[in-house]
This record gives sequence, structure tokens and C-alpha cells, in this order.
Amino acid sequence: MARYNGPVCRLCRRQGTKLFLKGDRCYTDKCALERRPSVPGQSAQAKRIKKLTHYGVQLREKQKMRNMYGLMERQFHNLFKKAEQKHGVTGDNLIQFLERRLDNVVFRLGFANSRVKARQIVNHSHVLVNGRKVNIPSYMVDLDDMIEIKENSHSIAEFKELKQEETELNIPSWLEADVKNLKGKVVKLPSKEDIDLPVDEKLVVEYYSK
Ligand code: SF4
Repeated sequence: MARYNGPVCRLCRRQGTKLFLKGDRCYTDKCALERRPSVPGQSAQAKRIKKLTHYGVQLREKQKMRNMYGLMERQFHNLFKKAEQKHGVTGDNLIQFLERRLDNVVFRLGFANSRVKARQIVNHSHVLVNGRKVNIPSYMVDLDDMIEIKENSHSIAEFKELKQEETELNIPSWLEADVKNLKGKVVKLPSKEDIDLPVDEKLVVEYYSK
């Protein structure tokens, strides 16, 4: 299945929840879901009549999680299989694998205002991990890894602005950020408790375990 390239706000409206796919706009009243919280393609009447089956609820949670991290179905399913094979609780493993992706880490450190933007930053080779260039968004960071925007990219307008930013960023506890120097560190591996995710991962596990 190809990556969805249409208007991303449509994905949020379809899932009926904010997936934060559009950067700063998501935090303002310009958010499409704040302005028009209906499901695209459904009349109000049809929406009232249609009640999701349990399978429909599982599918919706899976799509929500996949869309939030911007993965294609195959990539997401492969990650699920990896989570299943790993010792521990599959849902927790899945969340950890998703969070440890380099594009997500760049987003979580505040170097980009959306995961889409973070992926571009990684793809365009602006990111170093432990001093070495890594341009693979799916690269999985590990404990004690140092992630930084490479020195000669600091002159790019968006990074310059970020360095001057005065507002405190909300960085998750498993990461340490030095935004002024565009650096960050993995201080512990993320667990479910460290991440405020509007998705029920147990339903995602159920979806793939049928
Ligand atoms: Fe979703 Fe952001 Fe669009 Fe709101 S603005 S609907 S949160 S992508």
C-alpha cells in the first residue's frame, strides 16, 4: 500500500482524533478538526447510524497509530512482527520501536514541528548520530546515542530560528535536549508510560493477531 499523499487533515477527520501531522497548525484553532470535526465523506445522518464493529475499532486504532508515525502498511506490519518476536509485551515493544525511529526522535527533540518535516530533515542528511551522518528515517536509536543537527546545517533559517527560540519545549523524559546547540541524547529507552499516545495499542495487537 502506498503512503497516503492526500490532504493529511483528512486522516485526522477520518479517525476522529488529532494525529498532529501538520506541525504548528495542529496546535491552533486553524486545525481542521477544531473547525469541522466531521468524518469526511459521511453525512451527519450516516454517521449517527453507523456503529463500528469491534473489528472496525481495531482497524481504526491500527490506522491511527500507523498514520501518526507516517508509515506504510508493510513497514508498520513488519515492525509489529518484530515487536511480537521480541521478549515482553508486544504492544509496548511496538510503541518503543516506533518511538526509537530516527525521524520520530528528531521530532520529539523539537528539531522539527511534525514527523513529516523530521523525515525530510533526516532524508536531506542534516542529522548525525554519534557523530556519523545517518539519512535513514527508520534508523533505530539506542541508549546513550547522541543525535544532532550537523554543524554546517545550523545556518539554515529554520534551525537558526530554533536556536533562538525562547519557549520551553515539551521533551519526553527518555530524551535530553540541548536545543540551543541542536543536540540531544537518549537517556533511557522509551516505555509506554513515557509517551502520551492517543491510541489503544492493545487493539492494534488484537487487529494483527486474528
Ligand atoms: Fe490533524 Fe493537524 Fe490537520 Fe488538525 S491541523 S486535522 S491535528 S493534521
